[in-house]
Amino acid sequence: MIASILPTYSRAPLTFTSGAGSWLTEADGRRFLDLGAGIAVNALGHAHPALVEALTEQASALWHVSNLYNIPTQQKLADALVDKTFADTVFFTNSGTEACELAVKMARKYWFEKGEDRTEIITFNGSFHGRSSAGIAAAGSEKMTKGFGPLLPGFTHLDFGDHDALTAAASNKIAAIMVEPIQGEGGIRPLPDACLKGLRDLCDTHGILMILDEVQCGMGRTGKLFAHEWAGVIPDIMMVAKGIGGGFPLGAVLATENAASGMTAGTHGSTYGGNPLACAVGAKVMDIVGDEAFLAEVNRKAGLFRQRLEGLIAAHPDLFEAVRGSGLMLGLKCKVANTDVVQAGYAEGVLTVPAADNVVRLLPALNIPDEDIGAAVDRLDAAAHQMRRANA
Ligand SMILES: *Cc1c(COP(=O)(O)O)cnc(C)c1O
Repeated sequence: MIASILPTYSRAPLTFTSGAGSWLTEADGRRFLDLGAGIAVNALGHAHPALVEALTEQASALWHVSNLYNIPTQQKLADALVDKTFADTVFFTNSGTEACELAVKMARKYWFEKGEDRTEIITFNGSFHGRSSAGIAAAGSEKMTKGFGPLLPGFTHLDFGDHDALTAAASNKIAAIMVEPIQGEGGIRPLPDACLKGLRDLCDTHGILMILDEVQCGMGRTGKLFAHEWAGVIPDIMMVAKGIGGGFPLGAVLATENAASGMTAGTHGSTYGGNPLACAVGAKVMDIVGDEAFLAEVNRKAGLFRQRLEGLIAAHPDLFEAVRGSGLMLGLKCKVANTDVVQAGYAEGVLTVPAADNVVRLLPALNIPDEDIGAAVDRLDAAAHQMRRANA
């Protein structure tokens, strides 16, 4: 008989009942150091007092009204995002997947309104853009698309970082290029700054819209508010979600006035997108994460974490190959099965997340205390020793 929850996830036998900061607790009191943060979602850890206050205050005032009316917390968050980024305008969604849907629609509508037949969007192998029809067609991997056809047409898939293939494929027939500055699900694979710059130049040459998917790498994760800032380029359209809600479902599409010009009244909508609860939390997350001093701390913590991880790799060269990524979006490339490392971590009370390319993802809360970084690496070290004992 089928489980009462559709069995699309194979879940670890862990059940958390409470969380505080970088720690999660099971009913029996067992504590786990959380280096997954709900897959880069709990940007400020669990039960951050300022977020709890923002949510409960809004909850006692007003939950939902519909986008038929003005929503002050939504306006506040949109203004903050416009103030701190390249964007002139923002549409709020409930998830990264929905942000992908709108990014694709926005790019195609832009060219439709210009009277040009440009619908094709270039994307990259190993990418992840969500699980909707557009999201799986954009990513294109057989793992996600098999059996779900007919797929949404109009995506050309190239190898990530293959500049020659990109140069050959780019033309004034292409509507947009969609790319993650750092592939998350794909195994913490950063696109070098020079490639992102080259990609921007190519877009400018052919008038192609540049869509960045910063759902995982954005919102302070790399030590800048958005990852593309490291390369000094700006996109035309950007997808945001995960960290922006700090654990409350929230996503957004940010765009320049020009890129958004096709999206006039009635062309898109969402019942829940930008609701008062999500935006009250999101505005508080932006207050905290958008602050330069906070981002400087993310960079300092990232340096500390990375240094400790280099030590871990040096101590276990038979298990780990390298650490990669940027800021607090780190990946441990493994020489043994990444899922075995994640599993061994569970036994030592540390939570990590597997990714493609045999990588273990480390995506802690951006405000993880220094002592928890130390404890995290100690527990990963214990997990490594445990694996060696098991294999002996
Ligand atoms: C998680 C993720 C998405 C999808 O977001 P959901 O909120 O799960 O719909 C899209 N793109 C990237 C890069 C992601 O990491």
